[in-house]
Amino acid sequence: MKIIKSIEEMQKISAEKIGTIGFVPTMGYMHKGHLSLVRNSKKISDITVVSIYVNPTQFAPNEDLSNYPRNLENDFSLLENLDVDYIFLPDNKMMYPQNYKTWVEIDDLTQFLCGKSRPSHFKGVTTIVTKLINCVLPDFMFLGEKDFQQLTVLSKMVKDLNFTVKIVSCPIIREKDGLAMSSRNKNLNKSERNNAICLWNSLQYAKNEFLNGETDFLKVRDQMKKIILSNNGRIDYIDLIDSETLQSIQIMKKDCRLALAVYFGKTRLIDNLELNI
Ligand code: AMP
Repeated sequence: MKIIKSIEEMQKISAEKIGTIGFVPTMGYMHKGHLSLVRNSKKISDITVVSIYVNPTQFAPNEDLSNYPRNLENDFSLLENLDVDYIFLPDNKMMYPQNYKTWVEIDDLTQFLCGKSRPSHFKGVTTIVTKLINCVLPDFMFLGEKDFQQLTVLSKMVKDLNFTVKIVSCPIIREKDGLAMSSRNKNLNKSERNNAICLWNSLQYAKNEFLNGETDFLKVRDQMKKIILSNNGRIDYIDLIDSETLQSIQIMKKDCRLALAVYFGKTRLIDNLELNI
């Protein structure tokens, strides 16, 4: 496994490669969710590149950039165990040199869900992923359904801007008790961690109601709210969305998706679940 700290070196390796490149963009502090993306890449790509970069432009000034968990040594050792070929490790000066001016923005899809409470977030994500794609020149890019809106926005970006990379979406990996794995879980204290199980419980509750024939999401949402509020969660949103347009819908039906964002203390967690049978 080789660690690449220069854009030019990364581009040179990628341009000269023989075979396909699978790319897993991350912000580090690896957990089994990240590692599942890497395993998927190893299965179908000849070379796997993982980037680790906590992108400052996707954090608003009041958000948790400085608190974002980091542990490069541990990340390196987990990725080495999976036989990753390259870690791309850019820094802020390289990615956003003085007088940086160019941004990639996507209309519409970024207005809903997380985009409402984090209005500048997706502009940062689409810009950095464009830059990373231009550094790594991948054939495949592996993204988790955990960040469902991000997956939808980046899929749209790749299509609209005619990138040749193919996006491979990967299922959400959960802890034994159902909490979706996330680097941010590290910032939960013990009682917040216990309370956070209510996210999975409320999603499961809603799905079971649907499987039992309920279609009125507003009614179901009231009960989801109660489950979360009784566990000290501060709700940003609980929504039922069309999986393609991300527009809110009120009638529960097959293939649409429950999505939520909730704070426990200062930590904001997101999760989602498809309504399939
Ligand atoms: P992050 O480091 O949080 O930016 O995540 C990097 C990639 O890992 C993104 O594509 C995420 O959607 C994905 N990811 C994060 N958590 C999970 C999870 N629990 N299961 C599957 N993929 C995940």
